[in-house]
Amino acid sequence: AKARGRNGYQFYAPSMTGEGLERLRIEAMLRRSIDKGEIFLHYQPQVEIDSGRLIGVEALVRWQNPELGLVPPVRFIPLAEDTGFINQLGEWVLQEACRQMKRWDDAGLNVPKIAVNLSAKQFERGSIVNMVGGVLEETGLDAARLQLEVTESVIMDTGDALGFINDLHSIGVSLAIDDFGTGYSSLAYLKQLPVQTLKIDRSFIKDISTDINDEAITIAIIQLAKSLNLSVVAEGVETGEQADFLMRHGCNKAQGFFYSRPVLPDDLLSKWRD
Ligand code: C2E
Ligand code: CA
Ligand code: CA
Ligand code: CA
Repeated sequence: AKARGRNGYQFYAPSMTGEGLERLRIEAMLRRSIDKGEIFLHYQPQVEIDSGRLIGVEALVRWQNPELGLVPPVRFIPLAEDTGFINQLGEWVLQEACRQMKRWDDAGLNVPKIAVNLSAKQFERGSIVNMVGGVLEETGLDAARLQLEVTESVIMDTGDALGFINDLHSIGVSLAIDDFGTGYSSLAYLKQLPVQTLKIDRSFIKDISTDINDEAITIAIIQLAKSLNLSVVAEGVETGEQADFLMRHGCNKAQGFFYSRPVLPDDLLSKWRD
């Protein structure tokens, strides 16, 4: 198609024939993904470092499409956000995560807590509390066992984030700030918000033993959490050295490949039961 460019000259927009169509095609497949049974969850353990005890899991969404293969969330979450599909997807993820807790309970595995990621777009409709409350009621999961993860940008960019988070807190779910340290969160906000947990972003953990800045930031986040009486979890722990460092500096909760990759429910069961 011919279009008039910003500076007035003519150009062909390749996006409308190539990339644009491809994107539309993928969006259409994504919209049908839930009904086709292509969406499922992986669960990654969160552990207490000193005892090795399972303290919770984080639910991570996956899309397995016959044509596209296994699509990572960093590729389809943004599409889902752009198209509005994220609301349906987010509700499905929460439902499935809560149902899975019931299945583990029934199978005799005690998973104390499940963490579910929320996208900024899910806050825009204003009905987030109704959605979460509805799913809890429907699935019968105790609200105290659900933790919702939001990034700093969700908090800073959402109008009335404080109101939404207070509402969620009032129905008994806990909140974690995800990727902490990478966004521009205001410490004043942190003081006001009823959040329980900071998750130290894995970019700081990665070079913890070689980069003194990452070390300093990690220690500062742990101290901040302590001062504010918050729980702190380190993400992306891949080595025993990183785990030792964290424990020495007062962070006793971790998540990462060192402990386990995100896995299917049955794998979690066989690894952690007993
Ligand atoms: P996140 O919430 O920060 O999730 C942690 C990501 O780090 C996961 O990637 C996990 O597989 C990966 N990870 C965990 N441990 C390690 C480690 O030791 N080393 C390395 N290199 N990586 C590790 P994943 O599953 O690909 O998810 C990527 C992002 O997609 C998530 O980042 C989250 O922002 C988003 N996401 C995933 N599931 C959902 C969902 O259900 N809803 C929403 N809104 N976003 C989701
Ligand atoms: Ca997360
Ligand atoms: Ca994270
Ligand atoms: Ca992230």
